[in-house]
Amino acid sequence: MSTFEVVIGLEIHAQLQTKTKLFCGCSTQFGQEPNTHTCPVCLGLPGALPVLNKAAIQMAIQAGLALGCSIQNESVFSRKNYFYPDLPKGYQISQFDKPICLGGSLTIDVNGTPKTIGITRIHMEEDAGKLVHQGADAIAGATYSLVDLNRACTPLIEIVSEPDIRSALEARLYMENLKQILEHIGVCDGNLDEGSMRADANISIRPIGQKEFGTRTEVKNLNSFRSIERAILYEIERQKEVVLSGGKIIQQTMHYDDNTQKTVVLRSKENAHDYRYFPEPDLLPLVVTQAQIETLKAHLPELPQARITRYQSEHALSKSEAEIVVGDLDIMAFFESALALQSPVSAKDICKWTIGDVLALNKETKHLFSTSSITPKRLLGLLELIQAGTLSGKMAKEVLLKMADSTEDPADIVKKMGVTQISDTSQLDAFIHEVLNANPDVIEKVKSGKTNSADFLIGQVMKLSRGQAKPDLVRTLLLEAISNR
Ligand code: ADP
Ligand code: MG
Ligand code: ZN
Repeated sequence: MSTFEVVIGLEIHAQLQTKTKLFCGCSTQFGQEPNTHTCPVCLGLPGALPVLNKAAIQMAIQAGLALGCSIQNESVFSRKNYFYPDLPKGYQISQFDKPICLGGSLTIDVNGTPKTIGITRIHMEEDAGKLVHQGADAIAGATYSLVDLNRACTPLIEIVSEPDIRSALEARLYMENLKQILEHIGVCDGNLDEGSMRADANISIRPIGQKEFGTRTEVKNLNSFRSIERAILYEIERQKEVVLSGGKIIQQTMHYDDNTQKTVVLRSKENAHDYRYFPEPDLLPLVVTQAQIETLKAHLPELPQARITRYQSEHALSKSEAEIVVGDLDIMAFFESALALQSPVSAKDICKWTIGDVLALNKETKHLFSTSSITPKRLLGLLELIQAGTLSGKMAKEVLLKMADSTEDPADIVKKMGVTQISDTSQLDAFIHEVLNANPDVIEKVKSGKTNSADFLIGQVMKLSRGQAKPDLVRTLLLEAISNR
């Protein structure tokens, strides 16, 4: 079976995070009453003229810069003509032969080995509306469908990869990395559940050693990491079976059904000429100057990989710690605001608590870092008490639990709980004498060099202090007391 090589190219549509649509002033807000965010332009009424959204252009350029593309000083919008009930104009305004970005790349980490996937182009286009199928079987057996044009004319970029991807895993990693980059530069919200990113996977196989690509099929509209991986795995197996049983792959457009986990044929593959592309007569060519590109480059936020590297060198985080922080914008914002408070607590300790106990607690209380009552300031308050020796790490965990449902200062909670670490030596001395008096045989063992036995005595003192003594201090005082006996 492993005599075939898999070849995959992805076309990923990402919704740009603009407030308004690509060619009109309607809101792009998700989840609103159907057809309430519409106007003559996005309804496709005759005579309505498109006006290009500047923020969308800036975001498309920033995406291109983040992916190492060369930004084109002139690009052209075209009409892609086809009929579908969610497309009232009868054409989609898209870029065709002159897209805004050309030639970039994205490097993914495949089980520890870096792999660079080429990016052919990024073009801008408007989204279509949404059909809400009614009836028993949402795809095949709908009795009728409702049209919602709130999404029509929402700005998208389509990022087209080179056929450099060689497995379902690589395809998923590529999409995950792309999502992370677009989120970090504030270009796409990455809400896959709301359709903010959708992938079309072009898949073919060829005998290992063959130069020419095999005939591909295109699986449309994969909107989760799980479905992109599963659909590709299924489609690879299907193609292998066809070829091994003497058949030929037909170039087709497919749909992946999440329920049956199978791909089904939608239509035979359309070609560019089927769409009768021609330049959009209602829009001028899009011209961006080098100066505008440079300004956007200067304002490009730090990319996730660069940040991961910086967190390791600047803040001594491990790679996996840095990846967890950078992997979630909510956690990253929390970590950054904690750093900004300039506390004596090290970034490493802040990170450990953030992605350890605080993350676990927020999950349990179903909070985001941004909505949790554990704010950066309150966490630092707690960590400063550990640093000062007032609390042990173990006690601090208990205090943190109490902090979850209060707004009190950690120091005040500690006072109320009465858990302060005992560093008063006279109180500890009393405990130590009690323990030593009860264990003369153990004292002899320690004296004869069995230092392990001291741990037993320390344990007894800790017990008497109900865990509130500082173990280091107990050890020092205890060894001193033994040597004096
Ligand atoms: P379209 O889908 O509009 O015809 P292209 O021909 O430019 O567009 O190809 C789209 C995607 O298909 C690209 O990501 C490209 O890398 C990929 N691709 C092209 N040929 C193959 C192939 N034989 N096998 C797998 N992917 C392919
Ligand atoms: Mg395609
Ligand atoms: Zn509109």
